[in-house]
Amino acid sequence: MLNVVTSAFFVLIAVLEYLLPHREDWRASDGQVLHDLGHSWFGTGLGGLAGNLTIGFLAPLLAAALWGGQAWWPSDLPFVLQLGIVYLVADFGRYWQHRIHHLVPFLWRFHALHHSVERMSVFKTSRSHFVERYLQQVFMFGLLILLGCPLEMLVWYIIPNSVIGLLDHSNLDVQLGPLERVIMGPKGHRLHHSAAPEDMDTNFGSAIVLWDVVFRTFRDPTRVPQPEVVGIRDDPIPSDFLRQYFSPFLWARLTAPKPALEAAPEE
Ligand SMILES: [Zn+2]
Ligand SMILES: [Zn+2]
Repeated sequence: MLNVVTSAFFVLIAVLEYLLPHREDWRASDGQVLHDLGHSWFGTGLGGLAGNLTIGFLAPLLAAALWGGQAWWPSDLPFVLQLGIVYLVADFGRYWQHRIHHLVPFLWRFHALHHSVERMSVFKTSRSHFVERYLQQVFMFGLLILLGCPLEMLVWYIIPNSVIGLLDHSNLDVQLGPLERVIMGPKGHRLHHSAAPEDMDTNFGSAIVLWDVVFRTFRDPTRVPQPEVVGIRDDPIPSDFLRQYFSPFLWARLTAPKPALEAAPEE
């Protein structure tokens, strides 16, 4: 179900961003489309799967050890309130998982791949490293599963959030108006992909902006201009797939200062 919905939106957005681009110059190929798809499968796909398996294995054991396997999930509450709790808890987990990937230099090695894009496109949505996506899954859904949240409830977060993610990375000029202050839309997430540090270290939320507002990292896209340049200054990520995949383990070499050109001998 999730794959059908996201695949349909992926194709639709890919066609629309070609026909109605936010930036004409972002339509040109950067030679990374196959790499982006590779990271979608070997990074996001496998990392998410490993995260799900870990949660599925550990959560029942932990719940049994902590509170005798009792389900704390408030199933008696109206559906809308349960859904509200899912959005608050999942996005809280995502906010902190994302923020510590920017704060902790060792974790940034795994997140840099996602930021190493010089143009926005729907193909960039799942260009993420295995380790980052593994941690993302655990942070977003670990606590909810531990509390006994039914999987049917999570689907109501995962599908809309996946579609928002596709739109957020697209080269489409989607205007959410006042909703930009509620939903983390394309304009807000595009600021996060800016090469300017004052933009990049803001807007860490996934589906909603609430936790960015609470922790004072929200940059209101209705009040500041969209970034001229996206990506990373002095981007250390190589251009070939294998070295991209293993870049966190090649970090010292990739970030070593380039040897200065030898001075020309004086005449
Ligand atoms: Zn980031
Ligand atoms: Zn992104």
